[in-house]
Amino acid sequence: MKAVVSACLLGENCKYSGGNNLDPRVAEWLGDRGCEAVPVCPEVLGGLPVPRVPAEIADGGVTARDGKSVDREFRRGAALALEIARREGAELAILQPRSPSCGVKEVYDGTFSGRRVPGMGVFARLLAENGFRVLEPEDLEGL
Ligand code: SF4
Repeated sequence: MKAVVSACLLGENCKYSGGNNLDPRVAEWLGDRGCEAVPVCPEVLGGLPVPRVPAEIADGGVTARDGKSVDREFRRGAALALEIARREGAELAILQPRSPSCGVKEVYDGTFSGRRVPGMGVFARLLAENGFRVLEPEDLEGL
C-alpha cells in the first residue's frame, strides 16, 4: 500500500518558514504497516519558493500575507500532486493540519490572526473530491 504524505510531516524543510512539521507518528504508522510514503509538497510543486510568504484562504482564493494572490500556484501544485498520487497508486493521504494546501479539518480564516475555521486546504479538498481518503496524523491512532 502507498500513502501520499505532506512532505513536511516527514521532515522535509518545505514549510513557508523554511522548516518542517516532522511528526514521528506518521513514519512509525507507515513502517508498522509496510506502507510506502509518497512525499509531496503541493506548494513547492506549484512553483512557490522556500521560504515563502505565508498564505491563507479567503473568499475562495488563496492570498499571501503581502496581499498577493497565490491562488494559481496553489491550484497548479495541488493538480500536480494529485497526478503524482494517481500515478503512484496511493490509497490514502496523510496531511499536515491547518495548512491552506494540506489541512483536512480546519484552515486559518484568511485574516492572518491565528483564528481557525472548519474547512479544507486546496490539495486536501482536491484529493477528497477525487475519492482519496484524507487523514491527519491524529487520525492514525486506532486505525
Ligand atoms: S504545502 Fe503541505 S507539504 Fe508543503 S509545507 Fe505546506 S503543509 Fe507541508
